[in-house]
Amino acid sequence: MNTVTHNTQNKKLLMTSLCRFMPLLFCIVSVGCVSATPSPAPVASASIAAPAPEETVTIDGTTYPVPEAWIGRKLNAPPLKTPALVRIPPELTKDQTDIYILREARDALVRMAARAQEDGVSLRVDSGYRSAWYQRKIFINLMKKGRSFEDLVRYVAPPGYSEHMLGTVVDFSPGNWRFAKTPAYTWLREHAGEYAFSETYPENNRHHPWESWHWRYRLPASDRDRIK
Ligand SMILES: [Zn+2]
Repeated sequence: MNTVTHNTQNKKLLMTSLCRFMPLLFCIVSVGCVSATPSPAPVASASIAAPAPEETVTIDGTTYPVPEAWIGRKLNAPPLKTPALVRIPPELTKDQTDIYILREARDALVRMAARAQEDGVSLRVDSGYRSAWYQRKIFINLMKKGRSFEDLVRYVAPPGYSEHMLGTVVDFSPGNWRFAKTPAYTWLREHAGEYAFSETYPENNRHHPWESWHWRYRLPASDRDRIK
């Protein structure tokens, strides 16, 4: 008790716990809760219902709370540039656009796409490396068109949280729910592991909506010599 008396936050938590779990003493303890809290809120559990956001992102001067699905998933990835980043062959990208990823991931992607083509399946990349700066720009541009942060963040990673910062991730086309219905997705499910690509957000994962189009190259050092 001596330690908590010097910590207002802990004291409040202790008091709210007492309020919740000792209903017989509710009247007496709730008086203690109110007296220990400068807020006029009469119900102690109010402090549990609306916890302060633990992580925030700032976009165009406004700070927003990071949704629960992304909490604890901020990536510490330095910005990448050429020559570490290399261009994906245009014939493997949607509309032959300039898309870059790290060389090792690109090489594995090229081998994988060639094998898929032999099986009659076309893999086309829709997106690759994106910096946190670019991710923020996506939000700014869409919010200027009237979309809210809360709406966008349901399916776009907040700046600093996207795996596309790593340079080892690609989105295949179409980059939406329809991809799961394509032969490309079926083929990837069967063969991508042979090329060290895996789904980051598979169906029915506990933390995040399914993103069938989003695949990450992840090669353990011990496997580097075995993958051809
Ligand atoms: Zn993605």
